[in-house]
Amino acid sequence: MRFGACLLALAALATSLTACGKSGASSIVDKAKDDKKLVIGIKVDQPGLGLKKPDGTYAGLDVDVARYVAKELGVPESGITFKEAQSANREPFIQQGQVDMVVATYSITDDRKKKISFAGPYLITGQDILVRADDATITDVESLKDKKVCGAQGSSSPKRLAEKFGAEWESKNLTQQQGYAACLPLLESKQVDAISTDATILAGFATQFPGKFKLIGKPFSTEKYGIGIKKDDKSGRDAINNALEKMFKDGSWRKAIDANLGEFGKFFTSPPPVERY
Ligand code: GLU
Repeated sequence: MRFGACLLALAALATSLTACGKSGASSIVDKAKDDKKLVIGIKVDQPGLGLKKPDGTYAGLDVDVARYVAKELGVPESGITFKEAQSANREPFIQQGQVDMVVATYSITDDRKKKISFAGPYLITGQDILVRADDATITDVESLKDKKVCGAQGSSSPKRLAEKFGAEWESKNLTQQQGYAACLPLLESKQVDAISTDATILAGFATQFPGKFKLIGKPFSTEKYGIGIKKDDKSGRDAINNALEKMFKDGSWRKAIDANLGEFGKFFTSPPPVERY
């Protein structure tokens, strides 16, 4: 039955076979158990979080969280295929079955919950601002009113600024790229004055290029990082939440924070409570 349903869904979507695998399972729990394989959407250009290194391997907090959760679901590291995700394609990747889960600085929002389900959170951060190191004119979010700002398509960060400053500001002042790393050369060459997104992402860039950029350090939102899976996969959410709680308790979460976020990791004193719904 499940395999039949899977084939039907595939025919309807005319999409790839990756998320159905051998088992044709409808929950990520069964798929992981049966296939011992998972396709996981990850960012590849965010140091400390999700980064593809020149040797082709992946590193970052999201990568460590993904590996831990996969292992708890019965999938060894060798069974994981990481697939590059951008902010804008995370929901479609899950909906179309191109990935089994997304671990990619992915904020839990009510809008996104209409399309997919979230386990977690495993980290809580806030939207912040990155400027050139010698810029003293930007001190908080209000300063962005007459500044040029870069963000990523499909991200909640530029959306929040567009809602705050209005449509005219959006068309005149906001530049959107596919990812945040693509904003860095624009900031350096003064085509924009700031990049605004999660403090975690911006701290990673500031560390990557010492002396070039400065994190303002006044977060103005609450971003809860969740793990995105197919909508209404309740057993999947439960199993992933159990895995996260185990990661919090056995010291692996602390280790992953310190190993990947360095000095910035000290701000994360304790893991957040997971939201079971
Ligand atoms: N956490 C925010 C989001 O999910 C911004 C970072 C990103 O786009 O990955 O939209």
